Amino acid sequence: MPKEMIYNESRQFSCRPKKIFVPENTAELAQQLESIRKTSMSLRLVGGALSPSDMAMSNDALIRMDQFNKITHINQKNRTITVQPGATLHKMNQALAAANLAMPVLGSITKQTIGGAVATGTHGTGINVGSLSTLVASARLLTVEGDWIDTEKLDKTEGLNGIALSLGSLGIVAELTLNVSDAFNLSVTEAPNTLENVLENLQERLLYDHYRFWYIPHADRVWEWQATRCAPTKGSDNLTIVQRLRRWYDEKLINYHCFQFLLYISTHMPSIVPAINRWTAQKRFNTPKNTFNDSVSQFTFDCLFQQHVNEWSIPIEKTPQALTQLRDLIAHKGYKVHMPIEVRFVKGDDLWLSPCQGRDSCYIGVIAYTPYGKQPEYQAYFQDVEKLMLSLGGRPHWAKYFSTEGDKIAASYPHWQDFQMLRKKLDPHYRLRNAFTERVLDSQPLDSQPLDSQPLDSQPLDS
Ligand SMILES: Cc1cc2nc3c(=O)[nH]c(=O)nc-3n(C[C@H](O)[C@H](O)[C@H](O)COP(=O)(O)OP(=O)(O)OC[C@H]3O[C@@H](n4cnc5c(N)ncnc54)[C@H](O)[C@@H]3O)c2cc1C
Repeated sequence: MPKEMIYNESRQFSCRPKKIFVPENTAELAQQLESIRKTSMSLRLVGGALSPSDMAMSNDALIRMDQFNKITHINQKNRTITVQPGATLHKMNQALAAANLAMPVLGSITKQTIGGAVATGTHGTGINVGSLSTLVASARLLTVEGDWIDTEKLDKTEGLNGIALSLGSLGIVAELTLNVSDAFNLSVTEAPNTLENVLENLQERLLYDHYRFWYIPHADRVWEWQATRCAPTKGSDNLTIVQRLRRWYDEKLINYHCFQFLLYISTHMPSIVPAINRWTAQKRFNTPKNTFNDSVSQFTFDCLFQQHVNEWSIPIEKTPQALTQLRDLIAHKGYKVHMPIEVRFVKGDDLWLSPCQGRDSCYIGVIAYTPYGKQPEYQAYFQDVEKLMLSLGGRPHWAKYFSTEGDKIAASYPHWQDFQMLRKKLDPHYRLRNAFTERVLDSQPLDSQPLDSQPLDSQPLDS
């Protein structure tokens, strides 16, 4: 029995699987599933284990998809890429760039596997672009029962709408073809503003190709980021040595090391958090800047050190109400909260379990850093944020931390039952389950019993 503990990236969750499989091709994957079927073990899949969630944890069988990572084909003319799910976005971006193509949108990082990103509705920002799951043109899925399903051969509703964003609960996505775009650069302008000004003029801001902002609680300031797509050029980083030293000083010494050290002190003295936020707003988010670079470098940024993140999608028209109520909540409850609160915008889609299903959406994400692994107080704040977002019709980002149970979420998904029926059809014994699926997908009674197996006990480390 392997003794290996698996942790998610924020080390908030862990598990000790009885059996870990690491397939490198479809034949191995099929064999491994066959051997799992001979046992009563439940099963989960893990990509990069980056999700700030227990969704990929299992104390029974775990299939690690990170070695199943080939770029199968790039069709430059049709602008598609076919990949195995364990390929990282970083690897895909490199292959696409070599073919003068690019992902139409990215989130903040590229370390994730495409399988994990698509299974969870990972998103970037831009009201004319959907989440990464909406880029899926077709998928091949191997069910736990050993059947191959090709979404191209299914009708659209059950095929892509059900399977593209599956939370790892329908089967093993073994191949994905994604629609991509021609390579592009982004001209980005960043500048400080007030929350009032941004919310009053939100409509015009949403006209940018990509737009997001960070609200800095306690400093009560906003840092805006707006981007316009441009033709690609091969630029080179011609920084002088003085500019490089300056960048190291700002980005590594001040923004990373000093910030982490100050947050560490604040875990003993939470009252200094507002001062840290004001200091950071002054140091980091004060001077407007313009940059021009390839889309990957412009979309992504350094997310610094370990963190817990709780992010919700709400109907876009509720954005002003949500942010003003969130600001009031922090003030009234006297919470001392880390910065920033990230606000992004995503186009609505038809995917059954997409937080953007049927509506253009605003994503609001709150954060609690764990400097040098030290836990700050954040549970009460996160719970209040969840209540507020629920009251506004919010749906949680599946891959981030949230404690709201599925029965409170299901009502806001018109296709919840369609997904459950598809799940029952493809995984009739509910093998693809763990503490996350029990809490989120099975909080309403299942109409057939899962196989008897080990208790599902992946625990938050700090509970
Ligand atoms: C620092 C940081 C920044 C982030 N920034 C963003 C952001 O900007 N926008 C955003 O939306 N999200 C963001 N995320 C969330 C991240 O994109 C998701 O958590 C993503 O799922 C992580 O990919 P992974 O490969 O680690 O997946 P894992 O965490 O390993 O798995 C996630 C889910 O995918 C399932 N899965 C994995 N592979 C397969 C497969 N082959 N078939 C079926 N199911 C599968 C797993 O079972 C699990 O349920 C961020 C996360 C971190 C840690």
